[in-house]
Amino acid sequence: MAEPDKMSDNSNDKIMKKNDSNAKNSQQNDNEDADSLDEQPLDIGEHYLVRRSAESWHPAEIIQTRFNETDNQWEYYVHYEGYNRRLDEWVPRGRIMSARFHLSEGKTGADSKAWRERSLVTDLLADSTDRKITRNQKRRHDEINHIQKTYAEMDPTTAALEKEHEQITKVKYIDKIQIGRFEIDTWYFSPYPEEYGRQSKLWLCEYCLKYMRLEKTYRYHMSECTLRQPYGKEIYRRGTLSVWEVDGKDHKIYCQNLCLLAKLFLDHKTLYFDVEPFLFYILCEVDKHGAHIVGYFSKEKESPDGNNVACILTLPPYQRQGYGKLLIAFSYELSRLEGCVGSPEQPLSDLGKLSYRSYWSWVLLEVLRNVRGTVSIKDLSVMTSITQTDIISTLQSMNMVKYWKGQHVICVTPKLIEEHIRSNQFKRPRLTVDKSALRWTPRRYGPPKLGKK
Ligand SMILES: [Zn+2]
Repeated sequence: MAEPDKMSDNSNDKIMKKNDSNAKNSQQNDNEDADSLDEQPLDIGEHYLVRRSAESWHPAEIIQTRFNETDNQWEYYVHYEGYNRRLDEWVPRGRIMSARFHLSEGKTGADSKAWRERSLVTDLLADSTDRKITRNQKRRHDEINHIQKTYAEMDPTTAALEKEHEQITKVKYIDKIQIGRFEIDTWYFSPYPEEYGRQSKLWLCEYCLKYMRLEKTYRYHMSECTLRQPYGKEIYRRGTLSVWEVDGKDHKIYCQNLCLLAKLFLDHKTLYFDVEPFLFYILCEVDKHGAHIVGYFSKEKESPDGNNVACILTLPPYQRQGYGKLLIAFSYELSRLEGCVGSPEQPLSDLGKLSYRSYWSWVLLEVLRNVRGTVSIKDLSVMTSITQTDIISTLQSMNMVKYWKGQHVICVTPKLIEEHIRSNQFKRPRLTVDKSALRWTPRRYGPPKLGKK
């Protein structure tokens, strides 16, 4: 965690003083110097302005406190209001503004006025460096760190589940993991067993995914571990890319370790230990040292809901290089060989949604561009293994479908297709599945699926 430098400390003081004089509900704490505050921690549940990056300040809630013995100071786990919880983090006292943030009523849709006011404060306090962000970066930023729905906007069941989920998972202790040659900052809580779950850094064997608390244990393990690739069977190899199929029943510990690792980067994920009903497909980059894990997806052996993916993740060092879409394409290729349609299990993560939407758009544009004569939504579904529901929502987003006489009708012109293709948003994926390199035949775990939606 970066220590605030002198420059930012000074400007911090200036803003604090300005804010102090305005704050009505200021506590005794607010009148003291920031330095002496280090001795008594701030209260959990209180709201403050917290410096998130450079000089931009955001309203945030203190979720947890801990004493950092190395730096001899309290640290605070904060949640930035209205932001994805991936951005929750531990910050030193120096990044928290002295005056407490005054919050009106609860977090409901009705308090959007209060939210706007707070955003305004944030905007006013934001440094000019923030304004240098290009429009494109801004759009990307908004897509990724989208403002989340308030509880009031959700149906009651979702809101209750969401609240419970937040309670269980809100504090992330593991900040970093070392896996292979990468040290990776984690995004979310993951239920590693107690003594491991409270570490700030975990060491993972990149092959068997065993997790360790100490570097020396890790070094010893790496000299002992003979595995150089995932368990299970290699079902795809093209150039340096390979995919391995691992049965949760045959390699339980490995699959559990994989789920614990994945949870560090996925907000909503409930499967950690009951891995037997699932198959895991691990994507690797192969070099002379071994097969290095890039990402994976899991899939129920029998899905009553017709899901062809349960969980899907590309590890952060490999993100935005086309691996995610390759995994998605791979999952549809398996569905195609099974002769059925499929859809990913909901809810998808925010990044997952973007990848799927982009994949579906590209696949449908490619088919529509090459098709001669008329084509129905059902035809598209048979050709692509994408469900009719997903096809309709994708075409709607591109203005290519009309609801006519009780059904959805595809409504496109070659010009519209070309426009979308040229818009660059739906360009050809960097990595595609080479069907001839796939060595896989569907296995039957139960009665044959009809799987049509
Ligand atoms: Zn190992």
